[in-house]
Amino acid sequence: MFIKISIVLFGIAIPCVLGVGYGKHRNQPHQCDDIAIIGAGVTGSYAAWRLRQKNLKITMYEYSNRIGGRCFTVHLPDIPDVNIEMGAMRFIPTSHPLANKTIHDLGLEVIDFELGTGPSPDSMYYLRGKHMSYRNLPRQAPYNLPPENRLDLKTLNWNVFKNFTVVTQNGTILKSLDGVDLSDQRLDKQIYRVVFQDMVRDIAALDSLPTSDPGQQSSVPNAVKTVKSGFQSIPLTLVGQFLQASEKHSFNYNRHLRSILKRSDGKYTLNFKPTKTINGITTDDQRSDVIKRCADRVILAIPRIAIENLDWDGLKDTQVQEYLKHSIKEIKAAKIYFGYDTAWWQHLPRATKYAVSMTPLRQSYDFGVSKTTSKGVLNIAYTDEDTRVWREAMKAGNVVLGVNDDSIAATNLSVYMARKYYAEVFDVPIFSVPQPKSAVMKVWDQYPFGASWYSWRPGYKWNEVETRMMKPSATDDVYITSNVFSSSGRTGWIEGGMEIVEKVIKFF
Ligand SMILES: Cc1cc2nc3c(=O)[nH]c(=O)nc-3n(C[C@H](O)[C@H](O)[C@H](O)COP(=O)(O)OP(=O)(O)OC[C@H]3O[C@@H](n4cnc5c(N)ncnc54)[C@H](O)[C@@H]3O)c2cc1C
Repeated sequence: MFIKISIVLFGIAIPCVLGVGYGKHRNQPHQCDDIAIIGAGVTGSYAAWRLRQKNLKITMYEYSNRIGGRCFTVHLPDIPDVNIEMGAMRFIPTSHPLANKTIHDLGLEVIDFELGTGPSPDSMYYLRGKHMSYRNLPRQAPYNLPPENRLDLKTLNWNVFKNFTVVTQNGTILKSLDGVDLSDQRLDKQIYRVVFQDMVRDIAALDSLPTSDPGQQSSVPNAVKTVKSGFQSIPLTLVGQFLQASEKHSFNYNRHLRSILKRSDGKYTLNFKPTKTINGITTDDQRSDVIKRCADRVILAIPRIAIENLDWDGLKDTQVQEYLKHSIKEIKAAKIYFGYDTAWWQHLPRATKYAVSMTPLRQSYDFGVSKTTSKGVLNIAYTDEDTRVWREAMKAGNVVLGVNDDSIAATNLSVYMARKYYAEVFDVPIFSVPQPKSAVMKVWDQYPFGASWYSWRPGYKWNEVETRMMKPSATDDVYITSNVFSSSGRTGWIEGGMEIVEKVIKFF
C-alpha cells in the first residue's frame, strides 16, 4: 500500500508517495514504469518535469530523504530570510538560458545575486602573506616574476598552447601532444587547471588575473541572479509539478539503486537497497531486503562516483570505463557559514564583500544581514579543490549549534580554524573574530556526490565522451543525464545537466 501525502517546503506543496507499505507490496507483481528516474537532484527533477505531460508512468527514486542533491538550502536559527546555500547558489541568465527559462516557467521569483561570480576591483586578495586589492593584483601579486615574464592571461594562454601542443605554422591545426584536435577538446583555461593546478596552490589568483586594467573594465550590472526562495526550491518545485501532472507519476525517497539487470523481455530490473536517513545522514539500511522494480527505460541522474558504484553490464565496456574513470577530474569544494547577531566584519579596516586567500578558507563572502532580525551571515569559507583539512576538522571536536542536520554540522574545531584563518586574512587578532552564534558546513567529497563538480582532463574529445556516456550501451535504453560529461563544459552548473536532459529526451 502506498500512502499519498503532501508536504510543504519553502511554501511549495509537494505531493509525495512514501514507500511505507513496501514490506507487504514487495512480493506482488509490480507494474513496470515506462521510465525510472534515478536521483532527485536538479537534473533528475528537470528530466521528470520535462517528461511530465507525455502520458507515461514515471517514477523517481532518490537515495536520501531530500530532494535537491547539490542544491541544498537551509536557514540559520533566527535568520529566516538569508538563504544559506550549501551547494549551488547562482546562475547567469545570459550563459544559462535553460536554467533561466525553467526558473521563470516554474514561477519562482528571481532576484539579483549581488555578490556576482568573482572579484570586483575592491575585492581583497591575501597571497603569500601580502594584502592587495584585485585592482592592484597585476602589479602587486607576490610572485617575484621578472618583468619579461609578467604576461597577460591571453599571452600566457598562447604560450602554454604552443609549448604543450603541436601547432602548424599558420596555427590552423592544433593538436595536443596526444594527437587530439584542440578544437574538439576546447582547451583554454582548463589547461592551467589540469596541468598546473596540482603544482601551483594559488592558481585561483592566476585564474582571475585581469587581462586588462580592471578599473577600465565595464561591469555588467545585475548579470548574476538567484532564486528568492533558495536554489533548492528549483528541484523541489520541479518535482512538485511533475507529481501534480499525472496520477501515474510517483516518487520514492530512501532508495539506493545498486544494480540494473536486463530481462529477457527487454525491460530492466532495478535493484534498490532501502536506505535510512538519521539526522541528515543517509546509509544503507542493512536490515531491509533489496527491493526490485522494473522499468522500460532508465535515466541515471547521479554523480560520477554513484555511476561508478553501479553494477550494470552497460558500463563494463573498456571505452566507457576509460571515460568514466579518467576523462574528468573531480573537484571537491566546501562551504562554511557563520551566523552572528551583527555583521561585525563590515567594520573591519579591510572590510570587503569578497576575499580570496591562499589559506584553507580560499574565498570568503559577506552574505549580508537579515532584513527581519538584523542578524548577519558570513560565508567564511568557500573552499575549492583541496578540502581535506575541513573533512578532518569536521571529524574532531564538539558539534556547535546549527540546523539539526548532521550532514552539515560544524564542530568547534572547524569553527576555531575558520576564525583563525579569517583573522589572518583580514589582518586582525583572533579575538576580533567572535565566536559565531550558529554555524553549518558542508564538504562535498563523500558518496553519493564524491565531488562538487568536474573539470575535463586533457586528451579527450568532449563531444565524443558526452555522446557515448549519454547512452553508454547502444543496445540499452539506459541514459546518463547528469552534467558530469557536459561537452559545453558546464560540469559545475545546473545548466549542464539540463542541457544533457534536453539531448536525452530526444530519444524518447
Ligand atoms: C559548493 C557548490 C557550489 C555550486 N555552485 C553552483 C552555482 O552557483 N550554480 C550552479 O548552477 N551550479 C552550482 N553547483 C553545481 C550544481 O550544484 C550541480 O551541478 C547540480 O546541482 C548537479 O545536479 P544533479 O542533479 O546532476 O546531481 P546531484 O545534485 O548530485 O543529484 C544527484 C542525486 O542523486 C542521488 N543519488 C546518487 N546516487 C544514487 C543512487 N545510486 N540511487 C538513487 N539516488 C542516487 C543523490 O542523493 C542526489 O540527490 C555547485 C555545486 C557545489 C557543490
